[in-house]
Amino acid sequence: MVTDVIQALHGCQRIVITTHIRPDGDAIGSQLALALFLRKLGKQVEMINTDGVPDTLEWMEGAETIAVFEGTFEQRYALAHAETIIVVDLNALHRLGPVLSDLVRESEAVKVLIDHHCRPEPWHDVALIRDSAAASGELVYELIQAWDSGLLRGPIATALYVAILTDTGMFRYDTVTPSVHRMVADLLERGSRSPNQVYAAIYETRDRRWPRLLGHVMKTLVLRYGDKLAYIVIRQRVLEALSATSEDTEGFVDFAMAVDGVEVALVFLETSKGIKVSFRSKGSHRVDSWARSFGGGGHRNASGAFFSRPLHDVIELVVTSAPKHTGLLQAGVLSPEDRVYLSMLKSS
Ligand code: 5GP
Ligand code: MN
Repeated sequence: MVTDVIQALHGCQRIVITTHIRPDGDAIGSQLALALFLRKLGKQVEMINTDGVPDTLEWMEGAETIAVFEGTFEQRYALAHAETIIVVDLNALHRLGPVLSDLVRESEAVKVLIDHHCRPEPWHDVALIRDSAAASGELVYELIQAWDSGLLRGPIATALYVAILTDTGMFRYDTVTPSVHRMVADLLERGSRSPNQVYAAIYETRDRRWPRLLGHVMKTLVLRYGDKLAYIVIRQRVLEALSATSEDTEGFVDFAMAVDGVEVALVFLETSKGIKVSFRSKGSHRVDSWARSFGGGGHRNASGAFFSRPLHDVIELVVTSAPKHTGLLQAGVLSPEDRVYLSMLKSS
């Protein structure tokens, strides 16, 4: 609850804020908003992440004060001796990265979790969690509003605007409610950069190689299950040939989802360590439990999992398991409802 978090943070001075590997707009926006706010309250705040701030978010105020974890004595000391460690936008602790997650687990600090993913893991002491929240930034907004709303101005408002904008796919997911729009209106009134400026800074700063990469990747699109499932494959050699990184492929899944009739989309991203799979769905198809069956997790309609197996095995494994976890059907196979109906007929 908001009041629990305020109580936990109120009397403490030394705070570390961290977030997940390959941080996105919600991770960085929530982390920065909290850090800028707590610094205004006179607290000493450090931000330490496993991965750096993506290029598209480097312009945000305070982003230059987010450190990448390098294992230095100072960083280990800061984590071990912080009074409080705040973790934002993840609940599976391993998503902090292998070393950072161990250091956070072992730290004596009070551990605060602010997050909106399904099924929180129980490693924290205090939590502000709601899986129906559109973004972790929504929860940070509520925290700052309740604590000292007069400080919610300028760069803090921009950071929260970025968090909500990016995690709602620009205000188009199911999570977007009238109250999300009211919150965003309030952020704009409190001096957030304008929608136009933020959009241009994040989405109109692509390298000229980006459209080529998009073209190469979209040629891999395959449709299955009566064209309701779409998947794309991102090979490492394609990224290398275009001097691109996996960051440049953010949002590609939206193009697969944009095909008429597609209800579930998958991205198979080849990395040096293994295969990262992104799961996306519309409406009642749940992908969080599907991703969890492979050791991953996430939200109802957006999840992820990681595999240390060859690319083609992963594609086969995940695509063939779709009917078990979603409403998609193998051609010629009966739906669960049909099966129940038939068995009722047989037994009557
Ligand atoms: P993305 O596909 O954009 O990387 O991730 C979509 C969502 O799934 C994010 O909210 C992210 O937190 C979650 N997610 C992605 N990969 C993993 C994973 O390996 N483990 C867990 N628990 N969640 C993941
Ligand atoms: Mn998020």
